Order: sequence, then C-alpha cells, then structure tokens
Amino acid sequence: MSPLAHGLIAWLIALLLVKNINDRRLLVIVGVAADLDGIFIFFDQNSYFALHHTFGHSYVFGILIVLIAALLAKEKLMVGLGAFLAFSAHLFCDVIGSNWSITPLFPLSDMAIGSTGYLPSEVIYSLINPLALLILVLVVIAVGYRKEISPFEFISAKLDKMALGAFIYPFKYKCEYCGKWAFGECEQCKKKICAQHLPSFYNSKCSICSDSQLRN
Ligand SMILES: [Zn+2]
Ligand SMILES: [Zn+2]
Ligand SMILES: [Zn+2]
Repeated sequence: MSPLAHGLIAWLIALLLVKNINDRRLLVIVGVAADLDGIFIFFDQNSYFALHHTFGHSYVFGILIVLIAALLAKEKLMVGLGAFLAFSAHLFCDVIGSNWSITPLFPLSDMAIGSTGYLPSEVIYSLINPLALLILVLVVIAVGYRKEISPFEFISAKLDKMALGAFIYPFKYKCEYCGKWAFGECEQCKKKICAQHLPSFYNSKCSICSDSQLRN
C-alpha cells in the first residue's frame, strides 16, 4: 500500500492510544518507516527491485525502531505498544495490498509472506488499494468531525487548525457573532467565527478580540 495509507492507519492507531502530539508523530513515522527500503526507487531500479520489501519490512528493523520511538516518547509504554501495532499493520497491509512478498524476519530467515497465488494483481491494485484508501479517508473525515483533529497535525498544530477551519467547521458551526458559516476558532475567546470575523486566515483571533487588544 502507499506510504499515505500506512501513515493514516498509524495516525488513527496513535489517536486511540496516545495524547501527546509529538508521540503521535513518532507513531506515524514508525508506521511509514518500513518503506525506507523503497527509497532506492529514487536512485536505481535494480537496487529498488532487489531491496524493496526486505530489510525495512522485517521485524529485525521493526523492533529497533519501536524501541527508538518508545525511548524518544513521553508516553513510553503506549508509544511502544502503538509503534508495534503500527509497524505490524504496515506489514499486514503490504501482504494484502501488494503482489510483492515481504520477508518479516530478514536477514535471519528468507521466509516470505505474500498474497501472490491467492489474490490476482488486478484485485490487489484496482480494488483493495483504492477501496482501503477511500475507507481510510472517510474514517479520517468522521474522526475529524467528531474529535476536531486532523492528520495535518503531523506537520503542525497550526495547519491542523486551518484544515479543520476549512473542511470541518463550516459543516458543524455557525459564527457566534453573525450566524454565517464558521471557518475558524478564536484562540482567545474560543468562539467559532466566520470569514468576516476572522481578520486573516493566519491570525486566529476574532476581530473583537484583536480590536480590544489594540485598544489596550
Ligand atoms: Zn511497505
Ligand atoms: Zn461572523
Ligand atoms: Zn475572540
């Protein structure tokens, strides 16, 4: 599956298990990290075909990054658990979401697991992958609507707020001053506000709070 799908799965696991935003970022990184062995696609095709789905998609590497993530985390136990789940989910999704076997114990053993022979490639690439991504995006939107949080927090808390303002608030809230669709939240008074009452997209204070700050 694509790194995007792996990242979204890891983020959803993170949301269930840990409260700290940096801990959630660690889990997303672990969830995508197995694809590090695919980085050769940018350099040389032969190495790519020789190495993708080898050392990265192995628990030898997996346990190492799970431990590193737990060491770097605030909530060490939950991040350790979440990282193990996110890494395992990545391997599982690649088994059902690609026609390319993985070697989960590389380099200790060549034992390979794959869906070739069980699932035709067309089913894997024209059905399973797009369907999985669609379901993931729908789940992320539902979670975003209920919990008011988005995967954009991986990049920055500010970008997360902006994404919620653009995609979630208009469907959920009306401006508390004028009743128009809300596109943001004032960071000072916490009121939901429309585009007119939000002085700029980057300034997250409502016009009333910004005005009173100017007067003082
Ligand atoms: Zn992978
Ligand atoms: Zn308004
Ligand atoms: Zn305000």
